[in-house]
Amino acid sequence: MKLYWKILLLALLPLLLALGLGFFRLELIVRFQRSGREAADELKMALLNSRFKAYREDRSRNAAVLAGANDAVRAVQNSDTGFLVPWGELFLDPLRYSLIFFTDGDGIVLARAHDPYRFGDDLSGHPAVAAALKGRRSVGLFELDGEPALLETRPVMLYGEIQVGTVGIGAPLTKELLAHFSEGTGLGIEVEIEGFPPISMEECCGNTERKSVALFPSVSEESLKFRRIEAVFTEDELGADLRYFQRNLVLTMLLLSVTLLSGLFLLLRRYLRPFSLLVEDVTLLSGNQEDFFELRKRLAHNYLDTSHEVSVIAHSLSRLMERIQETITLLEWTSRTDPLTRISNRLHLDSMLEEEMKASAKTGSPLSVLIFDLDHFKMVNDDFGHQAGDNVLRRTAEILKSLVPVGFVGRWGGEEFLAVLPGAGEEEATEFGERIREAVESEPFPIGRRVTISAGVAEMIPGDTPGSLVGRADKGLYEAKETGRNRVVLRKA
Ligand code: GH3
Ligand code: MG
Ligand code: MG
Repeated sequence: MKLYWKILLLALLPLLLALGLGFFRLELIVRFQRSGREAADELKMALLNSRFKAYREDRSRNAAVLAGANDAVRAVQNSDTGFLVPWGELFLDPLRYSLIFFTDGDGIVLARAHDPYRFGDDLSGHPAVAAALKGRRSVGLFELDGEPALLETRPVMLYGEIQVGTVGIGAPLTKELLAHFSEGTGLGIEVEIEGFPPISMEECCGNTERKSVALFPSVSEESLKFRRIEAVFTEDELGADLRYFQRNLVLTMLLLSVTLLSGLFLLLRRYLRPFSLLVEDVTLLSGNQEDFFELRKRLAHNYLDTSHEVSVIAHSLSRLMERIQETITLLEWTSRTDPLTRISNRLHLDSMLEEEMKASAKTGSPLSVLIFDLDHFKMVNDDFGHQAGDNVLRRTAEILKSLVPVGFVGRWGGEEFLAVLPGAGEEEATEFGERIREAVESEPFPIGRRVTISAGVAEMIPGDTPGSLVGRADKGLYEAKETGRNRVVLRKA
């Protein structure tokens, strides 16, 4: 993996971890808040239901007292409106029990505690009164005076056996009554009854959500039907704020990470990519496949931004490689060059001869060698000094170099030279040897004395080794020396 990917990953991981952890914590808080809110809502609903249940029970007790007191029973039996009105008034409550009435056994109103001057009308057709007339207690929602009302009716019994009339107690279902039930809970209540406009408490602030409530669990058959009864919850503002915060946080974090990461990526790319490239290039140095020269060129030209540290390293490396290359070239040249005459040395001649012989053996083309030896050279040294002898050697080498192709002539040792002539047969080689001999002979050496050279020639035959080939030429040379020097002698195989 590349270095800048590693760094990027290293930076990314803690960031993602921190983000994930933060988000997880926030999610926990949101859930905790939500469940708290739900518990609170349930509690409110339970309170609402228990308040309504308490109301029904209280109303039922009041109805029992209203209908059960002996004096009241007698008054009903005797159609004593004068007693029943103040009796009922004792139980009146402007909100909870604003409807209290008595009828006789035929359903004719005897008294209305809430409306003392209205009596004598017939309520026998009213479903709740009709049920009570039949001896049944009736609980529910009934239309009374054109309004829906929460009502309980029950028979009024003499001695507990003989029905003499009915009693009814309740209140119109108004938004004030609903507000009374939900007081302190923060809930609103909405009720919709078939055939009537919906009744709802004043709407509160903000958004709301609705939940069905079982406010009237059991009502009598004759009761009006509810289309819906719902508790209205105001929106959970804290929860909404938290969720809004959560959403914003996620967005901000996302934006931040994208900006941060792309910034980091660009920065790393700018600084570490050249570094990675350099690492790759330098790694190639250790591989033997790679072209040293190519690599040096790449290091010199691929890192152009000179203000970049990596570029400085690359250029330094390139310069270092240049010097190594020069040294290698020099070493190579030195290793195959004779220091005195500056032509190939014995070492190079050996390997060159071996290669050329192999190539000729393969192609079948001829190859000849010429071995030269300066005549009476010891005398040159003796008469003119070693320095002058060196100069003669140098000059002779120059003559050889000017006549033989580059690299194919060298110093074999002492005052002996060897020329390799690929493609030349023995005759051609002998002629060539003659030309060299003549050139040396006619050279005006500074010592002022004629210098001559003897040579032995041999052509390669199948099965020859460098040793056997040069050995044959050497024999030719020996013969040249023996037969008077300053001559070229071909030695046939
Ligand atoms: P011949 O004609 O039989 O070859 O006689 P010669 O004197 O050339 O042969 P010999 O082998 O007797 O002497 C060779 C001399 O070459 C001896 C040695 O001092 C000299 N010599 C060898 N190498 C060098 C060198 O590098 N510089 C100098 N100045 N002389 C050298
Ligand atoms: Mg010699
Ligand atoms: Mg000699």
